[in-house]
Amino acid sequence: MKEMEWEVVIGLEIHAQLATRSKIFSGASTAYGAAPNTQACAIDLGLPGVLPVLNREAVRMAIKLGLAIEATIARRSIFARKNYFYPDLPKGYQISQYELPVVEKGRLRILVGDGERIIGVTRAHLEEDAGKSLHEDFHGLTGIDLNRAGTPLLEIVSEPDMRSAAEAVAYMKKLHALVRYLEICDGNMQEGSFRCDANVSVRPKGETSLGTRTETKNLNSFRFVEKAINYEIERQIDLLESGGTVAQETRLYDSNKNETRPMRSKEEANDYRYFPDPDLLPLEIDESLIEEVRRELPELPDEKSARFQSQYGLSDYDAATLTDSRELADFFEATVTAAGAEPKLCANWVMGDLAAALNRFGLTIDQSPLNAEHLGGLLTRIEDNTISGKIAKQVFNLMWDKRRPADEVIERQGLKQITDSAAIEKIIDEVVANNPAQLEQYCSGKEKLFGFFVGQVMRATQGKANPQEVNKLLKQKLTR
Ligand code: ADP
Ligand code: MG
Repeated sequence: MKEMEWEVVIGLEIHAQLATRSKIFSGASTAYGAAPNTQACAIDLGLPGVLPVLNREAVRMAIKLGLAIEATIARRSIFARKNYFYPDLPKGYQISQYELPVVEKGRLRILVGDGERIIGVTRAHLEEDAGKSLHEDFHGLTGIDLNRAGTPLLEIVSEPDMRSAAEAVAYMKKLHALVRYLEICDGNMQEGSFRCDANVSVRPKGETSLGTRTETKNLNSFRFVEKAINYEIERQIDLLESGGTVAQETRLYDSNKNETRPMRSKEEANDYRYFPDPDLLPLEIDESLIEEVRRELPELPDEKSARFQSQYGLSDYDAATLTDSRELADFFEATVTAAGAEPKLCANWVMGDLAAALNRFGLTIDQSPLNAEHLGGLLTRIEDNTISGKIAKQVFNLMWDKRRPADEVIERQGLKQITDSAAIEKIIDEVVANNPAQLEQYCSGKEKLFGFFVGQVMRATQGKANPQEVNKLLKQKLTR
């Protein structure tokens, strides 16, 4: 029997914590890291007699995202109560949006390999976060910290449009970049400001109806999303190929064991007994607010990437990589300005040596010990032939370690390129004189030895001789 070919189907639900200063329905602070239960007010606790009031800033942020993904902004949307019992949900319900969300029918462009794909965004809705249960700090007990209760979230739900873990990660990264460009979410995944539930199913290739899915909850790194999805794909295919069926359920990913485990069987919407929250008026958004928000939109990643291609002559790939984050894009442009050098050279250094060094030390671009002026200064010296590209790597490392500008490092370490032909010729004479056996072989036709002589000259100058000049002068000398 021919082995069955499977198609993977993935849809993501992403929770982005909105970067408002106060909560979505109260004036309590949203600052991270406060002592437990010091930032939950009577409204967040749902004490009797309180009334929620919607945070205008959270609405503007939802509109921003909606415009950035070319979605429809609902003129009228409704807040609903989603009822369930859990220790970290003191009200017994979460205020969310259900039937009428604020944002609908958007799209996001992703690059995977050298292909481009458009992923549909079904909806984005506003809701409040719950508190946190703390299991680690107490033996045999669970602590409850309600500081997070009432923190505004935007839940962004994709269409089941992704066909591999790599596409899912590309989508999540693109959305992550977008919320940071828009400054509506700090994107801090370790603190849980940007987290993902991954819905995964498989079906025989060619089948048009969807297979039964599982939902893996609370994935808070790109790596975990990729691993959890790949684990699920394999698990489901193994199950189906051995004659079993996939249970529709909610699962948890264990990063220590790299596996997902069942958490609970999937609840249906009617388990939540959704109904419109009687304490909140429908959210009405008029055209003038939408236009106002539209005018505040910054240049977005796709626009920036297109501009980098036309203005700096970069490839689609380079432009997409550099516009991954606004900070990286700004760093690149500042380097081009500071260096007055070839944009391609700047791009190579920002994506190459700089990115590698940041990676090595676990730093973000904002924490880079070298700023764009420093890097630009180094690239200027490559461009004007003060140093070779190879020596530049050495200068870069010294700049990084010693936090000094390029010119100072080049001067102090005596790394200036030797371009003076008289000086180079003198060294060539010495090298040739010291290697008579190789000279004889070369003259009798062993032309490969030319490289040997170049190497010796470079060595004698500690790599500082201008390589083009060395080649030219050696050729003259040896063909004489
Ligand atoms: P909920 O999880 O709240 O029940 P939905 O039915 O709206 O909500 O689906 C949530 C997510 O699951 C969406 O991103 C959707 O694209 C995705 N999804 C739905 N069905 C499947 C499926 N069969 N396979 C993979 N993803 C799916
Ligand atoms: Mg869900």
